[in-house]
Amino acid sequence: MGEIPELEDEIKDTDIVFDCPHCSKSLAIDYRGAGLTITCSDCGNDIEVPIPEGMELADVDSSSEDQELRVIHLRRSLHHAQERILGLENAVEDLLQRRDELEREQTQQRWQRAAVDERLGLMESALQALTDSFRQLTEAVQGEDVGKQKS
Ligand SMILES: [Zn+2]
Repeated sequence: MGEIPELEDEIKDTDIVFDCPHCSKSLAIDYRGAGLTITCSDCGNDIEVPIPEGMELADVDSSSEDQELRVIHLRRSLHHAQERILGLENAVEDLLQRRDELEREQTQQRWQRAAVDERLGLMESALQALTDSFRQLTEAVQGEDVGKQKS
């Protein structure tokens, strides 16, 4: 581990970016330099390159082929995760739509039931009115009969 990685002008996505603890100079080191002791290009002090979160030194020590495989695997996992998120988002969207539909249906059913109840009520009072009229008619006819019998 004696090799000191060179500080590069262009910062890559894989670079470890950190500040020198001595002079606060912002440094960018290739990820393979994680955990190594280097000399600050600005103040000349020895500094230890921090190991990024989620990265293990075993990652650094493995061959670049392993690294590439890991990256490919990670990208694939990420892709699957994104697809899964998309699928879940669609499922949630569907559920929300279904809920709206159900709510609309329920409202409609409530309305329909209210309409049926109202019609039933009207029919009941109509029936009641008919029954009353029928009774009155019957009474009238009976009264007439009684009257006829009397006269
Ligand atoms: Zn420094």
